[in-house]
Formats: sequence, C-alpha cells, structure tokens
Amino acid sequence: QPSEPLLEVNNIEVIYNHVILVLKGVSLSVPRGGITALLGGNGAGKTTTLKAISNLLASERGAVTKGSIRYRGQRVQDLDPAELVRRGVIQVMEGRHCFEHLTVEENLLTGAYTRTDGAAAIRRDLDMVYGYFPRLAERRKSQAGYTSGGEQQMCAMGRALMSRPETILLDEPSMGLAPQLVEQIFAIVRAVNEGEGVTFLLAEQNTNVALRFAHYGYILESGRVVMDGPADALRENPDVKEFYLGVG
Ligand code: ATP
Repeated sequence: QPSEPLLEVNNIEVIYNHVILVLKGVSLSVPRGGITALLGGNGAGKTTTLKAISNLLASERGAVTKGSIRYRGQRVQDLDPAELVRRGVIQVMEGRHCFEHLTVEENLLTGAYTRTDGAAAIRRDLDMVYGYFPRLAERRKSQAGYTSGGEQQMCAMGRALMSRPETILLDEPSMGLAPQLVEQIFAIVRAVNEGEGVTFLLAEQNTNVALRFAHYGYILESGRVVMDGPADALRENPDVKEFYLGVG
C-alpha cells in the first residue's frame, strides 16, 4: 500500500502573464508507489499544476507566486527541469512529443541521456520497455512520425521510462485515443507502477478510466481542489457520478 508522501504541493498559486490567476491555492500529496489522478474539465488547471511541479511554466510566462512544492522533503520549485529529471521526476507532456524523424527505438534511447550507468544497463531497460509495450518492439525501426497516436503515446511513455524515473508526471494520456487504446494505456500504467514501483501523478479528463486505475484522486475546478479521496470512494460519490461519470 502507498504510504509516505514523495511529492507535496502546498497551497500553490500560479499566475500567467503577471495577471491571470489560474491556480488559486492547490494542495496535493502524492504517496510513494501510488497512482494519483488529477481530474477535472477543460481549463481546470491540471496541466498548469503538472508544469508547476516540473518547473516548465517560465516558457509560458507563468510563475508560482505562492505556496511550496517539495519532493522527498526538499523544495524543488526553483530547480532546473533537467535537475528534476536527475532527481527522478519526469514529465510526459500532453500530445506525446516524440521526435518524428527518429525511429521508435532512437526515441527511446534519447530518454536515457541523463544516465551514466552504461550501455548494458540501457540495453536491459530497452528490453524492459519492450516488455511493457510489445507494440513498440514491433515498431522499433519505424519512424515515430509514421506511427499511430497510440503508438506515439506509448513511445513518449517508454522514453520517460528510459530515464529510470522514480516519478512520472503524465499529462492526459487518453487524449485523442480510441476507448480500447485508452484502456490499454492505463493498464500499462498500472503494470509499470506495480512492476517497477514507479509513482504516477496523472492529469486526466476521462474520470471514468482514471478512477478505475488510480489509487487516489483530486478533482480540480477553476484552479481549486474541490474534492479528493481514494479512487473507489470517489467513484461511489453521488456528485462525482453526476458531474464526472455521466450517470446519476
Ligand atoms: P486542458 O485539459 O485543456 O489542458 P487543464 O485542466 O490542463 O485543461 P490548464 O491547461 O492548466 O487546464 O489551463 C488552466 C487555465 O489557464 C485555462 O483557463 C487556460 O486558458 C489558462 N492558461 C493556460 N496556459 C496559459 C498561458 N500560457 N497563458 C495564459 N493563460 C493560460
């Protein structure tokens, strides 16, 4: 069972362009070894929260103006994104972002760039990734730009795994994918979580699937957490059913 908080976001505010207040005091606790889902509709602030954690807001003229973000107890909000990767936190951005002109395997290998443990270990991890994503093994010599949306999502996740992360921040993995594929992607998240002990914080609009695979969920509305709880409890909650699960 997940326990000790690995990542703690405490009452953060995020402002874009000096004036647009988008996160209005968001707090989250991500336990080591868990799958935590960040839920909510379009524009609720999920992506902004992930980018605040991985320090990717500056390029969008956004900034954390209040609150704190701690990883393993240490303040991380002023760190270079690459330093965060070295500490074990990697983000898989919304919309995949594979290098289109590289093959699938070359894409995976780019994920190992921060590692210093040598070719044999990297080779072993490539096999580990192909174990979780058999489809990537079949497509490893294909140019990523010519693979399907689902394969590109897998490629982006596989590349993240090649950095041997402790924590993956996964933004909207279901985006644009057919239901069956969404199911497959989430099953792989669960398998990687259980098999490698990787901690996940994932942002997802598809509440239904996210709450079936995650352990714990936070629901964001207009930049605030309006509800949180164990995934099973949220799935049974009448408000969640009515407003997020489409039944009620
Ligand atoms: P989505 O599923 O659409 O990504 P989200 O919950 O991830 O939704 P965010 O992308 O975090 O939401 O956006 C939250 C709010 O911040 C939205 O109102 C959006 O318009 C605004 N926003 C996002 N990026 C910027 C930016 N660079 N400059 C100004 N406002 C922004």
